[in-house]
Amino acid sequence: MKFKVSNSKKSHIILLISFFLVTTFSALASNPASSLSSKLQDIESVYKSDSQQALNLAKELSVEYPENAKVIYWLARLYPIYSEFELGYKYATNALELNISAHDKTYMYLTLAYYSQFKQNIPQQYEYLEQAIDYAKKTEDPELIVEMLSVYSGTLASNNRVDQAMDYMTQSYELVDNVSSPDALSTMYNALCTIYLQTGHPDGAIEAMLKSIEYVMLTENTQQLSVAYYNLADIYIQTEDYEQAINAYKNSERYSRTSGDIIGIAYAYMGLGRSYLHAKQYDQALAVLLDAKQRFLPENHIGNLIQIYGDLASVQLNLNMYEDAQDSLTKLEALKPYKTERSFETYVQSAETQANVFFALGKIKEAYQVQQNYIDQLRAYHKQQLEISRESVFEKLKNSIYAKDNQLLILENQLKKVELDKHKKQTDLLILTSLFSICIAIFVTFILSRNIRLQKQLDKLATTDDLTGLYNRRKIMAILSQRFNDFKKSKQSLYVCMFDLDLFKNINDQFGHVMGDAVLKHIADCAINIFGEAQPVGRYGGEEFLIILNSKSYQAAHAQLEEFRLAIEDLDIPGLVQPVTISLGLSEASINDAYQTDIIQRADTALYDAKKSGRNRLCGK
Ligand code: GH3
Ligand code: MG
Ligand code: MG
Repeated sequence: MKFKVSNSKKSHIILLISFFLVTTFSALASNPASSLSSKLQDIESVYKSDSQQALNLAKELSVEYPENAKVIYWLARLYPIYSEFELGYKYATNALELNISAHDKTYMYLTLAYYSQFKQNIPQQYEYLEQAIDYAKKTEDPELIVEMLSVYSGTLASNNRVDQAMDYMTQSYELVDNVSSPDALSTMYNALCTIYLQTGHPDGAIEAMLKSIEYVMLTENTQQLSVAYYNLADIYIQTEDYEQAINAYKNSERYSRTSGDIIGIAYAYMGLGRSYLHAKQYDQALAVLLDAKQRFLPENHIGNLIQIYGDLASVQLNLNMYEDAQDSLTKLEALKPYKTERSFETYVQSAETQANVFFALGKIKEAYQVQQNYIDQLRAYHKQQLEISRESVFEKLKNSIYAKDNQLLILENQLKKVELDKHKKQTDLLILTSLFSICIAIFVTFILSRNIRLQKQLDKLATTDDLTGLYNRRKIMAILSQRFNDFKKSKQSLYVCMFDLDLFKNINDQFGHVMGDAVLKHIADCAINIFGEAQPVGRYGGEEFLIILNSKSYQAAHAQLEEFRLAIEDLDIPGLVQPVTISLGLSEASINDAYQTDIIQRADTALYDAKKSGRNRLCGK
């Protein structure tokens, strides 16, 4: 996720072009009468809608007034937008030695932070951002404070420090009542988006990003819009919603054009190519990928070129352009020495493409060899991915991110409330001025009711599982977290059961997925019947469920679960001949448990024992 400025996508081309423009511009603009202050005002008024123009003006001024603090300040603020982080750093350190306001110092530290990010010096980046926050606080301007807190929160989140990110987000929320600047609000939603992504909630991330875009729209900052849409498209790609990704990349491309951001166009085309490929629109994919390929310089963008050649080969294969596909694969192979972690997948995938191309070209023996090779690579890759995902899931659970879900929901609701209040304030004001009062009132009522409806929908969506009506994983984990905290305080026993359907795959295979879904629904209903409201049941995974029991003793929990197991065995599901059975694992919270996930871990082990020892049974300690 990128913030404010995209840190990787802008290139030297921009600089060259700006340089060219500057030279021409300075030659043409030979009006010495226009004063320094009026030119500075020009910069102030155009820097959002046309940052390139602002940078040109600042460069022009720096020829005449190289020592002027405000000129240096603007150079330091504007260079990073075009990925000139070194120059930004140079001017920002210079400006900080001069007599500038706390407001200006805030942005200088932000520039220094971008430089550290570029240099991948994360601790240094944090330090600079903390200083930016300190100076923002000195200005006592809530807008500026919120903007800086949000930048910091987003940065922390993107480095997987979700807990701290939340803390800073909470500080922003406390001030949000006094904030109406679109800059601050868009930055805030941007940070929220990153938090959502890092906690595995792409839906929330999309919603937050759309909000952020809404606010950037108000600033008319086209360069930032192109970055925002690019980020949005990235999330859509992650959620495999390629149609939406296509739209978002198109928007990113459009705004990159408007803002003169040439590398932005290349990025948008690269993303579009991938989306079209997945959406099986191969002709379109071919066109944009060929274009994107021309726009990236090999010396700065090897990683992007690797992605493009990989996707291009697949597209060409699908269009039966075997010679071209072979050509792309050869180019891809030539870039192999620069293979990174990110491009690993591309290379695995390209082995399959290569096998198919060989096959199409009648080189059966080679095809067979590459195919064999592909399978080996894929196996290794999957093993590695599994390891990574296991580690990261574990990491996430250990950080008890799920416990944070509650907090996130509360924050989100707070923000919604603030927005509702704002709409309300707007209404009051407009009715007072009584211009178009009726129209406006209707409009506002519409917005208000829509917001309330949205919020209700959101609350429900956020906590229940569609198919079964049970709590979803996020919610059941949040409840468990609460119960676990209570347990730690009161030491009253806490029992958790994890259960999983036996040989459920067979049911799907024999009777189809619709029947499979119906079985899940029956089991969920039965669980609700037996455990009631006081003992929450949630869908933990596909056909894996979690029950939080309130039994007073292990024996009582055991007995109730046995009753449940038999009830499932006795279920009469229309259309199903054989009985459905489940295996259950029971565990008890211990005072030695550091996290709620420790209890789940033991329930899972017990469940595994139940499966291993013949299924349709309950295992525990
Ligand atoms: P085991 O007794 O070892 O648990 O065997 P199993 O077949 O139940 O285990 P496995 O984990 O291999 O298969 C689980 C299956 O559950 C695979 C997946 O297709 C199916 N499944 C998961 N979620 C859903 C769902 O929402 N609807 C349907 N119909 N099937 C689902
Ligand atoms: Mg199963
Ligand atoms: Mg399973």
